[in-house]
Amino acid sequence: PYRLKNHIRAWYTDGSSKDVPQPYTSYPEANLPRPLLDAFKKAGFQAPTPIQAQVWPILDQGWDVIGIAKTGSGKTLGFLVPAYRWMWSSPSSGVRTLILAPTRELATQIHDEATKFASASGCSSACVYGGQPKREQLPAVRAGAPILVATPGRLNDFLEYKDINLGAVGYLVFDEADRMLDMGFEPQIRDIMKKVPKNRQTLMFSATWPEEVQQLAHDFLNMPIHVQVGNTSS
Ligand code: ADP
Ligand code: MG
Repeated sequence: PYRLKNHIRAWYTDGSSKDVPQPYTSYPEANLPRPLLDAFKKAGFQAPTPIQAQVWPILDQGWDVIGIAKTGSGKTLGFLVPAYRWMWSSPSSGVRTLILAPTRELATQIHDEATKFASASGCSSACVYGGQPKREQLPAVRAGAPILVATPGRLNDFLEYKDINLGAVGYLVFDEADRMLDMGFEPQIRDIMKKVPKNRQTLMFSATWPEEVQQLAHDFLNMPIHVQVGNTSS
């Protein structure tokens, strides 16, 4: 009972848990390509973390996901690995995967993790956030990385000047959604969402699950499967 042992609960929007895809308890089950397996081995990772184990099969089957798990549980690769798989299976140019995060620090952490696995995944990333001149970020944006990590305010800035096009985004992540709303980013998020294709897979991670976050999920996710690991304060 991997779920029980690892305090994983997963349920559909209607509350039922029947037939939620089973966790990938090991890397072989996840069926990852050799370069990525080698990179994980080199990083000292022995198995997927519980949040990864549960969200990977759900995302591989095309579902949207709401993930509630504490800091340090491995959420970043939880959303990056299925993004890689999708980008490999339907290559195209432009920004394919968009990751929204509340702060420069968190955006940079995600970008660093993506960069660590960029050669193994074949997917590079660019990162934009406030507090640094736009012209310093523009070259990386123009280089055409398939993954873009952004804080909502700065991304909106770039969008206004048409320096970034989100027309090829098919995989979108709201990371630390509760903090993004606490910081007042809801209007910017709603503007950004007008520029993202409707046909996409959407993920939302949050440490807590207040009304405003639920509303955001309701507006932008499609029949998400909820995944909770451990006892969080939601
Ligand atoms: P979260 O976003 O949930 O706070 P992170 O994605 O930042 O967590 O991951 C926390 C740390 O765990 C990072 O240093 C990351 O490289 C590491 N990590 C990710 N996946 C694994 C794994 N399968 N096994 C061991 N460590 C991992
Ligand atoms: Mg994180």
